[in-house]
Amino acid sequence: GARLIDGKAQAAIVRAKVKVAAGELAARLGRPPCLAVVLVGADPASEVYVRNKVKLTKAVGMTSIERRLPETIDQATLDATLTDLNENEEVDGILLQMPIPAHLDTDRALSLIDPAKDVDGLTPISAGALVLGRAGLVPCTPQGAMILIQSVLGPDLSGRTAIVLGRSILVGKPLSLLLQSANATVTMAHSRSPDLPALCRSADILCAAVGRPELVRGDWIKPGAVVIDVGINRVIEEGRPRLIGDVAFGEAESVADAVTPVPGGVGPMTIACLLRNTVLAAARQAGEAIPHDL
Ligand code: NAD
Repeated sequence: GARLIDGKAQAAIVRAKVKVAAGELAARLGRPPCLAVVLVGADPASEVYVRNKVKLTKAVGMTSIERRLPETIDQATLDATLTDLNENEEVDGILLQMPIPAHLDTDRALSLIDPAKDVDGLTPISAGALVLGRAGLVPCTPQGAMILIQSVLGPDLSGRTAIVLGRSILVGKPLSLLLQSANATVTMAHSRSPDLPALCRSADILCAAVGRPELVRGDWIKPGAVVIDVGINRVIEEGRPRLIGDVAFGEAESVADAVTPVPGGVGPMTIACLLRNTVLAAARQAGEAIPHDL
């Protein structure tokens, strides 16, 4: 069977490096790096995510502040909250928890966030930096997926083919760009692509970020491939809720060289990379060197 790519262990390694870097930065800045989290409304899933982010921020020696805004706020109030945080010199990173209520303009809100503090990597400037290959803050989930891929294959993906299923701004598109920057030869596939199984079978690295439970079957996978399953799908099986990925895990295991489980694969990497981005943002804004292994 395939090797399991242990996202929990890899995330712990990232967090340990972040903790060291945060400690060094705290000594030089006179305060720990600080992440601001903005939560609009009271969506229960978002509440859980925010609580986790705040908890893990503390665990790596950083501070966080929360701005909780009622569901009913208007755009001007959200804009003012973000602008305040931009101007607050004690804040290094700003995260606007998604989704925000439908009456608010997500694109407008995101474009207001100072790119230097854009720890989710979702502002147009951050997206542009990624396209142009310039230093910037990279979206957390695709960054986490890359760390997992490189933990198996090493940093240089020269000569390897990769396919990314899904072209979202949050995952698929940035992951394709990161793979290409690491010298992989990338196919960007999506819901309108022809013959996905055949496209997938030629790829040394298969990344699924689609949101379709077990779309990718064993016979889509090139023998010996590295399979990264970004999908998180809630399904009911035998009356019980369960999380499954975009890849039929059991089938992938007998074909692939290495595969990420769901849960416990890409999932834990996302928050670890958020913490990593917060340290990177703090260091860059202070003009401090970034530890080379971060
Ligand atoms: P999205 O809905 O924004 O995008 C899905 C993409 O998949 C689209 O580009 C679409 O073209 C493509 N697609 C849809 N059906 C397809 C099909 N049948 N064949 C090929 N492509 C198809 O979703 P997203 O935000 O990119 O998230 C994708 C998955 O990753 C979801 O399951 C989500 O829950 C999960 N996710 C996980 C994390 C994490 O691990 N922390 C973070 C973000 C998203």
